[in-house]
Amino acid sequence: MLFDPFDFIIVGAGLSGGVVARELAETGKKVLIIERRNHIAGNMFDYHDERGFLVQKYGPHTFHTKDESLYEYMKKYGEWEPYKLKCGASWGGKYSPTPFNFQTIDTFYPEKEAKILKSELLSEFPNREFVTVVELLEAKSSNVRNYASFLFKEDYAPYTSKQWGVSPETIDVSILKRVPVRLSYKEGYFDDPYEVMPKDSFTTFFENLLNHPNIEVRLGTDALELLTLGTDRFLFDGKEIKQHVVYTGALDTLFEYCYGELPYRSLKFEWFYEDIESKQPVAVLAYPQEKGFTRVTEYKKLPYQNIRGTVYAVEYPLAASYKNKLEPYYPVLTAESRALYEEYSKLFAKFKNVSKCGRLADFRYYNMDQTLANALSLVKRLKDTL
Ligand code: FAD
Repeated sequence: MLFDPFDFIIVGAGLSGGVVARELAETGKKVLIIERRNHIAGNMFDYHDERGFLVQKYGPHTFHTKDESLYEYMKKYGEWEPYKLKCGASWGGKYSPTPFNFQTIDTFYPEKEAKILKSELLSEFPNREFVTVVELLEAKSSNVRNYASFLFKEDYAPYTSKQWGVSPETIDVSILKRVPVRLSYKEGYFDDPYEVMPKDSFTTFFENLLNHPNIEVRLGTDALELLTLGTDRFLFDGKEIKQHVVYTGALDTLFEYCYGELPYRSLKFEWFYEDIESKQPVAVLAYPQEKGFTRVTEYKKLPYQNIRGTVYAVEYPLAASYKNKLEPYYPVLTAESRALYEEYSKLFAKFKNVSKCGRLADFRYYNMDQTLANALSLVKRLKDTL
């Protein structure tokens, strides 16, 4: 039978599935990965387009972490180069770096007011590189509070409303609890000690990760067309399989939406090439007030590529839909959706020969370092039972 040579079946060739597969293969286990898409690397998939630009099919990714051991893990399967992601926002014909910093104030305020505002910020929040917008909204100084309201009204509210498909009036400032504003002229999106891009590509990293005699990858195959669910086990051809399954897909799909669809936002990209040196000042530029789209990623700058012209993708958020083949990207986390996920999770827990792992199966937004850490901790649990 198809699965006989294997000890484990992994559904999904993204970072979660790839790492679990490699770690199990290293212990001598034979692993089959089944991937629905026609490529490995999940949402981290990148490729060279017809002009030679390295572009990322599912949106801009950089690897960043505070955890040295996770970076060391990534280094085992790829070469990496330091890369500081720079982002910005543009509205009313003006540009500011994001997270907003003192340059934002200089750009949007007259000189005298800008000077007062910067000095009030520094005296109210001494020795702080970052504050949150919510802190600014609760500041003693009315100038500081007005600055926060300005950012909220012009940028965060309209951007968030497009991102999540809700009206700007319904956006509560509490969602900005963790959104940082810089109290200096410093730029850069993350302050993690390890922030890198692959020297070759993310896909090359995956090729190395999966290059092991104990791993076989089957692309373009929906695992759920091969495997079915019995009462408490996965079945193939109506018979129980002896292999353990690691499932990195979505739980609602697995259970045929028996409780309803888990809500996700999806993204559509429109791709452009222009014969110009540069499209925008930074790799990722947000347009909070433009209709429909949220941001533009210029891949020539992610990482910098010395090729004639430039290529960029305009990003349109919209509701995910299995029917319309709109991939799930960002889980819409509400009390209701969490409760729905819990129902699926309880159902999943009844199954004996399967574990779940990854951003889809956990219905969480994970950065790559969190995805990696979760995959490694699942491997540890699986190894304990071997
Ligand atoms: P995925 O990459 O989604 O892999 C799951 C795989 O399972 C998919 O390939 C899917 O096709 C397959 N699959 C599902 N169901 C089935 C089935 N039934 N049969 C067969 N195959 C199946 N993180 C960062 O650290 N830095 C960033 O800059 C960053 N940018 C991001 C930008 C965007 C737009 C998005 C959406 C995410 C970003 N992330 C970033 C997060 C990062 O993409 C994830 O952490 C990581 O890709 C998750 O890996 P995964 O394996 O869990 O999921």
